[in-house]
Amino acid sequence: MISMYEVNKEELKAQFAKEWEKHYKLNALIQRGFKRQKCKKCSRAFWSTIQREFCADPACIGYQFIGNTPVKKKLGYVETWKTIEKYFTSHGHGYVKPYPTVARWRDDLYFTIASINDFQPYVVNGELEPPFNPLIVPQPCVRFPDISNVGVSGRHYTNFVMIGQHAFNTDKTGLFYWKEEAIEHDMNYLKQLGIPEEELVFMEDVWAGGGNFGPSMEYFVRGLELGNCVFMQYEVTPSGPRELKTKVIDMGAGQSRLAWITTGDPTSYEVVFGDVIKQMKKDNEISIDNDLFVKYAKISGSLNEDEVSDLEAEKVRVAKMLGTSEE
Ligand SMILES: [Zn+2]
Repeated sequence: MISMYEVNKEELKAQFAKEWEKHYKLNALIQRGFKRQKCKKCSRAFWSTIQREFCADPACIGYQFIGNTPVKKKLGYVETWKTIEKYFTSHGHGYVKPYPTVARWRDDLYFTIASINDFQPYVVNGELEPPFNPLIVPQPCVRFPDISNVGVSGRHYTNFVMIGQHAFNTDKTGLFYWKEEAIEHDMNYLKQLGIPEEELVFMEDVWAGGGNFGPSMEYFVRGLELGNCVFMQYEVTPSGPRELKTKVIDMGAGQSRLAWITTGDPTSYEVVFGDVIKQMKKDNEISIDNDLFVKYAKISGSLNEDEVSDLEAEKVRVAKMLGTSEE
């Protein structure tokens, strides 16, 4: 059953920020020299090994990796998955084949919108054992609310693969794989992709959905969110929040973005669709003002319909920055 009691995310964010030591202070980060800092622009708390004025959210710094990736070796789209799969399967994670994008096992959802959906409700509520524990799954997802951002932000798709890293801590297992291990694995697989540790910025956040909530760590590199590690820890009840019986690691990362960070191309579509894009440009005899396109690409990260209150005003702002018209 999905709970009818929902939580106020803004209130939770404020509360969790006050109790940050309880929710976000991790030895995995501290031991590697990460320090908690506050963004001078958005005031959000984040963790980084180097001193930063701003966080790494594109709304605060744009896309700084375009034409300027910190990764030495470009990876292809499939190669990116293979690298991640190899890391996780050789470190105790079982590989799970993707589930259908039509979420026919859920009565409250038509389409699979996240990898954790594969295991809801029965594994998450403890009624069924997961196929492996912990596990990794490259799950195709469909998100209709993202469609208006497709082609605008360079990172949105009509459908995309979310790489899910999940661990289920049940009565039987106890807390066998929790926050420390999850973040440790994430830093390790990112290293395998060639991302230097000093480039990583972990941002404190709160996740809430379906009557459950918990702290989460979103990780960014140079303005691109690569993944979000959610610690599904609490549930809402009529008498208030309480700890979940089955605590779940729900890390989801975009395969396209992980490949994109290694290329630094103007959009993520180049690395995902590759030759198709080249051929389409050729067939349609499109010539692109490359300098303008790259300039636009760097600031396109802040063009997100979900997170910008006035998109028209945002377009005017961007056009001004580029020294061109809105059209
Ligand atoms: Zn910020």
